Amino acid sequence: MSADAFIFMGGTFDPIHNGHLRTALEIKEWAGVEQVYLMPARAPVHKQAPGRTSEQRLMMVKQAVQNEAGLNADEREIRTEQPSYSLLTLQSLREEFGPDRPICMVMGMDSYQTLPSWHGWHQFTDYAHLIVVKRPGYELPEEEVIAEFTQQHKTEKLEDLFSTAAGRVIFHELTPLGISATQIRGIISRGESARYLLPDSVYQFILENRLYGLDDKQG
Ligand code: ATP
Ligand code: MG
Repeated sequence: MSADAFIFMGGTFDPIHNGHLRTALEIKEWAGVEQVYLMPARAPVHKQAPGRTSEQRLMMVKQAVQNEAGLNADEREIRTEQPSYSLLTLQSLREEFGPDRPICMVMGMDSYQTLPSWHGWHQFTDYAHLIVVKRPGYELPEEEVIAEFTQQHKTEKLEDLFSTAAGRVIFHELTPLGISATQIRGIISRGESARYLLPDSVYQFILENRLYGLDDKQG
């Protein structure tokens, strides 16, 4: 039954790094599913970072999962014309999979903290379960609106994610990796090495395409 759940993790992946990959792999093993999907968001035109495109971010995700049978790039947000609102994505997934298939959206605690600022966040649990992973430096939010939401939907039982199609929030602790894309962009722009923070293939892609303000110090 659990093999049937659709588990995905959204993000900008600018660039994808070992924090994302390790999270996806550990979730896959913990949940006992065959596949986990990494879904890069389409950047709204006004937020497009200079020097790299949605296509390049997707390419890096594809490179990162290419030799990992259970991890996949999901292109649906990059491919649609609509802006990447999680609510719209969840609605379209639900439409595609029908009412019974469990859908789980994975996010880090930093994302969960900002949830009340996401468009239509209160409806997310109508369409999916949320799997929230601890991330070094981020605690469970105390803000009333989110604390109340947590209280309402929280479960500690993994089976609950598979016996219903949507509606639960579960917190999961995994190997803490304090890696962020912000840190990697900073390292590269200063001409330092980002090796071992992300897959070599992705790092090569960054160097070859001279992303993140890499100057002639590295070549
Ligand atoms: P940035 O620094 O640009 O915000 P990021 O490293 O946070 O990048 P995102 O693409 O914003 O990466 O994150 C996508 C998802 O992955 C988010 O839900 C985020 O919480 C989660 N995530 C990112 N890095 C880690 C990590 N090291 N451990 C656990 N979860 C992570
Ligand atoms: Mg982030």
